[in-house]
Amino acid sequence: MTTIAANLETVRKRIAAACLAAGRAPGDVRLLAVSKTFGPDAVAEAHAAGQTAFGENYIQEAVEKMATLSHLPLEWHCIGPIQSNKTRLVAQHFAWAHTVDRLKIAQRLSEQRPPELPPLQVCIQVNVDGGPTKSGVVPAEALALARDVAALPRLRLRGLMCIPEPAPNFVAACDVFMRAKAIFDQINSSGLALDTLSMGMTADLEAAIDAGSTLVRVGTAIFGGRSYAAAT
Ligand SMILES: *Cc1c(COP(=O)(O)O)cnc(C)c1O
Repeated sequence: MTTIAANLETVRKRIAAACLAAGRAPGDVRLLAVSKTFGPDAVAEAHAAGQTAFGENYIQEAVEKMATLSHLPLEWHCIGPIQSNKTRLVAQHFAWAHTVDRLKIAQRLSEQRPPELPPLQVCIQVNVDGGPTKSGVVPAEALALARDVAALPRLRLRGLMCIPEPAPNFVAACDVFMRAKAIFDQINSSGLALDTLSMGMTADLEAAIDAGSTLVRVGTAIFGGRSYAAAT
């Protein structure tokens, strides 16, 4: 077994254990393998070990990887910041975008989604802790943005995503993730049917699952430490 295959197995076990501890079914949580900064070989290796969904932050880097790997049935998720000048590439190449945080970006993605592709699956990024990354809509505006995004013809609103600052311990991490879950529940009780809560990474996936995550985005625990920062 390769290192990546062994790492994937370890991560799947962590997810299953966290689901068990939270009284949730193991199938409730999807694993997104975050392959940013790693080459096509690493992605192909993970695919050979049964992984099909991959997350990328840097649009240009991702598009090149997709071209190299176009023979494989992979599902690509954009999890990096989306500037206006990058919306076309995202609309043309990705199955999912997790980081929609303003209506203007959502409108461009909808307009630019090629007609021959299924709707782009999107999550709204929420800034749950006011952290210095500053990406994401503030919680008070999440419902209004969700309503507007859900009305766009070429997008399918699936849920919410958040990237809180690292918390000092499990309880503190759960606390922050619970804020995202509360917004998720509030939006669903208003009539929108969201099914995806994208939260949890290598360091905090157990806390995220405890709070209700349905999709964890894991890079380091699968591919190892990242040794360089790719250009956006
Ligand atoms: C890099 C990244 C991840 C993966 O982080 P790890 O700590 O390596 O698991 C998840 N989500 C986003 C948005 C990222 O940028």
